[in-house]
Amino acid sequence: MHVVVIGGGIVGLASAYELARRGVQVTLCEQGSLGNGSTDRAVGGIRTQFSTPVNVELSKASLDVWNDFEERFGTDIQFRRPGYLFLAREEETASALEASAAMQRDHDLPTETLSPADATEYCPGLEVDRYVAGSYSPLDGYADPHLAVQGYASGAREAGVDVRTGTTVTEVLTDEGAVRGVETDTERLDADFVVNAAGPWAGRVARMAGVDLPVSPRRRQVAIVSPSSPLSEDLPLTIDLDSGSYFRPERDGAAIVGGFFADDDPTVDPDGFDESMDLSWAAMAVERAGETATYFGPETQIKRGWAGLYGVTPDDHPIVEESVPGLVNAVGFSGHGFQHAPATGQVVAELCCDGSASLVDVSPLRSERFADGETTTERHVA
Ligand SMILES: Cc1cc2nc3c(=O)[nH]c(=O)nc-3n(C[C@H](O)[C@H](O)[C@H](O)COP(=O)(O)OP(=O)(O)OC[C@H]3O[C@@H](n4cnc5c(N)ncnc54)[C@H](O)[C@@H]3O)c2cc1C
Repeated sequence: MHVVVIGGGIVGLASAYELARRGVQVTLCEQGSLGNGSTDRAVGGIRTQFSTPVNVELSKASLDVWNDFEERFGTDIQFRRPGYLFLAREEETASALEASAAMQRDHDLPTETLSPADATEYCPGLEVDRYVAGSYSPLDGYADPHLAVQGYASGAREAGVDVRTGTTVTEVLTDEGAVRGVETDTERLDADFVVNAAGPWAGRVARMAGVDLPVSPRRRQVAIVSPSSPLSEDLPLTIDLDSGSYFRPERDGAAIVGGFFADDDPTVDPDGFDESMDLSWAAMAVERAGETATYFGPETQIKRGWAGLYGVTPDDHPIVEESVPGLVNAVGFSGHGFQHAPATGQVVAELCCDGSASLVDVSPLRSERFADGETTTERHVA
């Protein structure tokens, strides 16, 4: 069997690696360099705290790989586990947080719900009076996406994947409704399966095969700041679910702040968007982080930042399925694709080799859910 994977981000690399491990001949086509799409722009967050069972299961299966990454791939991805702390200002948000935590515990996870006062055990600078509840999991943390790309890339090459950077797929070849291969800028590649792992470009790639998927590239920003008082490296990644703001420690007392605060969220062109950080956005992100914790007073200095793209679906869940014979889509991760890549890669390999997925029940991730009205929106989104 020959499989062509389109996209050399974390999802394409994990898929190629898992396919090759199962003895499949794999060619991976990446138009630029490995990781140069969304993956290198991610904050690296890895968490089990999601609001839907399918996202929790993707997290659990992925965590098995993240926890053993160095033994498997020989690369230390600097996975730190200070936990994630979610915070609610509103009673309604608190109830939803508690329901999610209970569901996570049903999936054998140790998530606890906390009063704001108890949450200061994890985040001593918390502005306690602003919040009504929180939830915390010690399994959560963050790793370095660039190192994870390197690890998967060397694992994929060792397993025999033909990794072709600087290779753009220009056409997906179909015959009587089935996908048969691709045309690149230099040659035709016949394939039994084509995997669309094109991140923010995924809608465009799916259309090459005549498949219409609701994946919109949306711009998201992060800033590295020098806080007014240094952040200890054991502070959790802390998210205010009502304001959409988040922060986490970076090295040497610095912090990463992020969040989406605008009213409109336009679809952007992945080949031509502003990749730099807006200063006005960064000032807002620092102000919002300062509402959450005392570390971000007026002396906070904005050092640098960047913008990247989320590939967003209407319910903030990915689409993972064989959409038409021979075309497997693994797209629309809505800001969670870095952390869910290890499980997704295994599911993609199962879809190609076994015809169905067994690691995780991905039936809630089929694209028909949008037409059927069977969507459940992920609430833990930042
Ligand atoms: C600011 C920011 C913070 C984030 N933080 C987190 C986080 O904390 N945790 C988390 O889990 N996720 C996070 N994400 C989301 C995460 O980055 C993405 O979900 C993930 O990287 C998606 O990986 P991917 O491999 O699907 O896409 P990408 O990394 O975008 O890879 C797709 C690749 O496909 C290539 N490609 C496209 N079209 C073609 C073509 N026609 N031919 C050949 N190659 C093609 C592109 O060049 C690209 O390299 C964040 C994203 C941003 C922007």
